[in-house]
Amino acid sequence: MSERDACRQLIVDTAKDLTHRGFLSATGGNLSVRITGEKAFAITPSNYDYLKMIPEDICVLGYDLKPLAGDRKPSVESAMHAAIYQVRPDVNAIIHTHQVYPSTLALIGEPIPALFDEQVRFLGRSVNIIPYAPSGTGSLVKAVARNMADHNNAYIMANHGALLLAGDMERAVHNVLVLEKCALAYLLALCTGKKPNRIPVFVREIAFSKLRKDQKKFEAENK
Ligand code: 13P
Ligand code: ZN
Repeated sequence: MSERDACRQLIVDTAKDLTHRGFLSATGGNLSVRITGEKAFAITPSNYDYLKMIPEDICVLGYDLKPLAGDRKPSVESAMHAAIYQVRPDVNAIIHTHQVYPSTLALIGEPIPALFDEQVRFLGRSVNIIPYAPSGTGSLVKAVARNMADHNNAYIMANHGALLLAGDMERAVHNVLVLEKCALAYLLALCTGKKPNRIPVFVREIAFSKLRKDQKKFEAENK
């Protein structure tokens, strides 16, 4: 199987898995993987039922968004995915969801500080809010690209949803789950009216350094 075909199959399988687990619903969200050595990526088509998707429905685009394979209209967020692959050489898989608990924080503009060791280990020092811009616009691409330098692997897009990055698709799915748990726990803690405690800064930095080590490995492989 060619790398392109393997990437298209991986996206279909992952989209179905995330739909069955309730992290993707209707046609909200989009998924992509980098195709190594091609300056290209495979991405879900726009507005198309995940449960009907087959590998041929997945679009292959260059970083310049030139279509390389697939007849369907690519996701409206394709430019956002392309921008991330260009500024973050450590990222090989991107999942954008409208999953409920991070979306709730997206409504109140509340970033998630460093609450749990595993949160920082996989998602980064904090889950920051990317300021609002409408879906599928150049303004959203700019807003997302501006936030990438912090090396985090999870973001919340204001009044929209979640954005998870990783060195491979398996870890990106893992990050979807970690974010959901952290967002729910944080929301519940806020509901008590008490101030949620954070992990100590030295522990946060140890956990973050482990994430950076993973990222540098993927970055080196993409050079
Ligand atoms: P697409 O179906 O075009 O990927 O759009 C879904 C979405 O979530 C836009 O932000
Ligand atoms: Zn969306």
